[in-house]
Amino acid sequence: MPFTLEQPTTVEEALRRLADPTGGPAVAIAGGTDLLLDLDEGRVSAGRVVSLRRLPWNRLQWQGDSLVVGSTLPFARLGADPAVRARLPGLVDAVDAVGSLALRHRATLGGNLGRAAPASDVVPILLALGATVRLVGIGGHRDVPVGRFVRSSRQTDLAPGELIESISIPSAPVSAYVWQRVRPANDVSQVGVAVARSDSPSGWHVALGGVLPAPTRVVEAEALLARRRPNDAEVELAAQAAAQRATFVTDKRATESYRRRLVSTLVRRAVARALRTEVGG
Ligand SMILES: Cc1cc2nc3c(=O)[nH]c(=O)nc-3n(C[C@H](O)[C@H](O)[C@H](O)COP(=O)(O)OP(=O)(O)OC[C@H]3O[C@@H](n4cnc5c(N)ncnc54)[C@H](O)[C@@H]3O)c2cc1C
Repeated sequence: MPFTLEQPTTVEEALRRLADPTGGPAVAIAGGTDLLLDLDEGRVSAGRVVSLRRLPWNRLQWQGDSLVVGSTLPFARLGADPAVRARLPGLVDAVDAVGSLALRHRATLGGNLGRAAPASDVVPILLALGATVRLVGIGGHRDVPVGRFVRSSRQTDLAPGELIESISIPSAPVSAYVWQRVRPANDVSQVGVAVARSDSPSGWHVALGGVLPAPTRVVEAEALLARRRPNDAEVELAAQAAAQRATFVTDKRATESYRRRLVSTLVRRAVARALRTEVGG
């Protein structure tokens, strides 16, 4: 289906173009790694595609202890930043898991959240880190926790005409993301496990990807990781709790029971990996 490409240079113009009914429905595009396939295969139809690549969102900055990532910053730049690698190792694990290096030069965090895939490699670590999505629309800004933003496949909290401006991510030097796939690159993870330990009283967060309807935190497992450095028996109990809790499916990539076994193994690996990042750990 043919479409026209519009390339606004200001946020106001982008919002206006998305809301403008002239010329038929419009859709936003960032890197296009998901959307171009969706347009080509007819899952999305739009006569106008509004590119976000010229908006001033292609950057990252620290605000106190939180990293603010512009929604159109390509993953490759996020993963290469030395401060991000030191303060958010779990985020870097997840970014490095996405597709291939070539794909990561185009694909963006905003696009990953906009697609809201149950098998996203990035949403679980954003959940574990307690990230917040900043949205902008004609009426102004609003901030939504990632857990409320991503609802199910292709379903988000975005209102018509709204855009993701940035994602705010509290730093967590003790964090990790591990995954399992049939093929290591350009394949979808069967299961992904993200963990992050915060210094606030909330302690460990554990989140799973590859589950339905959307990546989810597993509070039952978190409660069993009560100490800053849990012992093997405590990690094992948390791993079992995570494996029992989530809703897995059997599909072409893995059976439901295999996914459950993967989760318990990956929770153990993720906690061990996160603790190794600690100085002296
Ligand atoms: C070969 C291949 C391998 C892949 N491997 C992985 C993988 O390993 N792990 C993984 O998680 N994903 C993977 N993906 C999926 C994809 O690359 C990611 O979801 C990517 O982050 C999407 O970003 P994008 O900028 O390309 O989004 P786009 O394709 O531009 O947009 C995706 C959706 O988000 C919306 N959108 C984009 N930006 C915004 C914004 N700022 N505000 C509101 N809505 C917005 C668009 O309208 C569209 O609906 C893979 C894709 C391909 C083609």
